[in-house]
Amino acid sequence: MSANAAKTKAHRAITGRIVVATHNAGKLREMRDLLAPYGIEAVSAGELNLPEPDETGETFRSNARIKAQAAAQKSGLTSFADDSGLVVDALGGDPGIYSARWAGPDKDFNGAMAQIEKLLQERGATLPAQRKAHFVSALCVCWPDGHMEEFEARIDGTLVWPPRGTKGFGYDPMFLPDGHERTFGEMPPEEKHGLPPLGKGLSHRARAFVKLAEACLVR
Ligand code: IMP
Repeated sequence: MSANAAKTKAHRAITGRIVVATHNAGKLREMRDLLAPYGIEAVSAGELNLPEPDETGETFRSNARIKAQAAAQKSGLTSFADDSGLVVDALGGDPGIYSARWAGPDKDFNGAMAQIEKLLQERGATLPAQRKAHFVSALCVCWPDGHMEEFEARIDGTLVWPPRGTKGFGYDPMFLPDGHERTFGEMPPEEKHGLPPLGKGLSHRARAFVKLAEACLVR
């Protein structure tokens, strides 16, 4: 048995064309970058005009499942979903699974970041140690027959103010990953989510993706 066959024995391998169950252009870009080296063609739920299911889960993992299952059922293709968000310690874990919703229908992340900063200031969280946060990414791959594979990872960091950088998306300009001098908003894409040899697999999504790749992707 080849090494790759042995590696994927307990898991199901992903091959061919898949649907990325997202309507978020920033996430789609990152997912495509991650999948491309494996020869996986990714079409998005947005491009297929699939409806966005309500994210009624209470955890990142359950919301990823809801999105992947809905896209697999509607498209008849293997589907890949990420549910992710920013968890701020001093805010009791907010915005967490509500990270997208805090930006409102206009996806105003400058407003959402200002809201976080206001709440941190109200709690007197001015020192870096009081401003710890992490991003979480839960990935779910769902096949049309209902089989699922799930992976989760996080990256720890500190929230800075004012926001820095115009790269990335969402809360990136406010998030300084531990051990780094630049926020996610200041990092080029390959530094934030690139996998070796180009990058170090830094982001929560890249870290969860490495777990997925080890289990389900064959080069
Ligand atoms: P989801 O589409 O329901 O998973 O929403 C996740 C939300 O969390 C996004 O809209 C962003 O606001 C935030 N988020 C997740 N990952 C990242 C990231 O890598 N950078 C910045 N914001 C992120």
